[in-house]
Amino acid sequence: MSQFPREINTVTKDVRQVNILFALCYPSTYRAGMSGLAMHLFYSALNARQDTSCERYFRFDTPSPVRSLESGRGLRDNHIVGFSLTYEIDILHLVQMLEMAGIPAFASDRECDDPIVIIGGPAVSANPLPFSRFADAFVIGEGDLVIHDIVDTVGEDKSRNDIIDAIADIEGVYVPHRSEGPVRRLKIDNIDHIFHPTRQIVADVPDGSRHQPIFGRALLVEVTRGCGHACKFCLIGHIPGPRRARSLERLQSIIQRGIAETPVKKLALIGSSLGDMPRLQELIDWIVGAGLQLSVPSLRADTVTQELVSSIAKGGQRTLTIAPETGTEELRRRVGKGIRDDQIERAIDMAESAGMHAVKLYFIVGLPSEQESDVAAIAEMVRSLAERHRIRITVGVNPFVPKAHTRFEREAQPSLEVIRAKIRLVEERLRSVPRVIFEGLDPREARVQAALSMGDESLSEVILLASRYGGLGGWRRAERESGIAFFSVASDTSRREGDLPWSFIVD
Ligand code: SF4
Repeated sequence: MSQFPREINTVTKDVRQVNILFALCYPSTYRAGMSGLAMHLFYSALNARQDTSCERYFRFDTPSPVRSLESGRGLRDNHIVGFSLTYEIDILHLVQMLEMAGIPAFASDRECDDPIVIIGGPAVSANPLPFSRFADAFVIGEGDLVIHDIVDTVGEDKSRNDIIDAIADIEGVYVPHRSEGPVRRLKIDNIDHIFHPTRQIVADVPDGSRHQPIFGRALLVEVTRGCGHACKFCLIGHIPGPRRARSLERLQSIIQRGIAETPVKKLALIGSSLGDMPRLQELIDWIVGAGLQLSVPSLRADTVTQELVSSIAKGGQRTLTIAPETGTEELRRRVGKGIRDDQIERAIDMAESAGMHAVKLYFIVGLPSEQESDVAAIAEMVRSLAERHRIRITVGVNPFVPKAHTRFEREAQPSLEVIRAKIRLVEERLRSVPRVIFEGLDPREARVQAALSMGDESLSEVILLASRYGGLGGWRRAERESGIAFFSVASDTSRREGDLPWSFIVD
């Protein structure tokens, strides 16, 4: 591979001067990992400790998945190997990284000189069970609350076994077969009080490089956590707890310091349903007034105002992203997303008036109680929007994936054939509509995601085999060889009754 680009703000410590070696791992591409706040946050927080050296590992697009970017340290040479699992499907790459490093994939096969493998992130915070044989411990919820307790515990002069027992006693940590009773999901009430990284790593690459994070060369600024809405299908609306926002003053101080410490001229604001944040307009005007560029995530259509979208456009963002989710208001209301069609239309009017070039609209098909008319209405809505606007419209259609701990946790995902037919219907009806670009997630991938979201420990054998075969076809082969009905987990209706396997995780 070509030479890896230079990075700014990395930290390399003399390992003789520290007590704990921490591998911060992202089981996918460098670009995806560096686009999320978790890598920056844990990297800075851990390296701020005098006793710890934290270095990064990625599955793809770096010189080696098992050698750190900073010093080439072997993955197995660390005391703690910590993974952030954002998407369930990346468990394959996580297992591959362990095996490539010579760390036994199953925790039960690890010996006293193997590192302690810890997995955190949204996927495991909802349901860690399908992944439970691969982790020595899981962090359930907001890991920045316990990371230092974990490192302190690993630094104690104890056997590996005793350390894992001690980690099991930390609130919010789940150690399979050792944790007793319910596991409380970690969340902090006031995010003003927690650490935010300001010295962030940037890759010194030209625009368009595959090593550039998705927001470009930007400082990530976490504005909110959680969401004040609870759309029945949405994990963010259920597990990270109620929406919490940083105060304007705290955000301004993070940004001032961040810009001084990180050589960027752009901010990527992170958070769900950002439009609900009090004083968002003031924040954006302040950022744009400081001559900085800006990237904002998807906004709820009912929070978009002309003033807001004009300020965002002045900050250099040329695309507005909103998620109508369904084609009809009636289904939208039934799934808990109370946004009206006229609010969606108005948001697009505003984006166009503000001089934006494009809108992105995200929809879900296969939702409980959905009728064919709801699916057809997606195409009708987009066609009618395209007729009334000159702006480019990208339409993303994703299959419904039931998630643990959401209001739809007992629902089944429709069969592959049904989902395919729904996606095809929208795609075909939009094919001839000018300025509309269609994007659909492969329903097979959604099937795998659903199984990994709703499954239990019995899936570990399939995961291990699939990680060795790779790709979507690898899952089929793994299912056949293991004899475990992996793909039917998604459509299993037995969970409609009784206790759910993940009910031991509580808020
Ligand atoms: S879909 Fe959006 S508004 Fe609804 S709960 Fe999820 S993040 Fe919040």
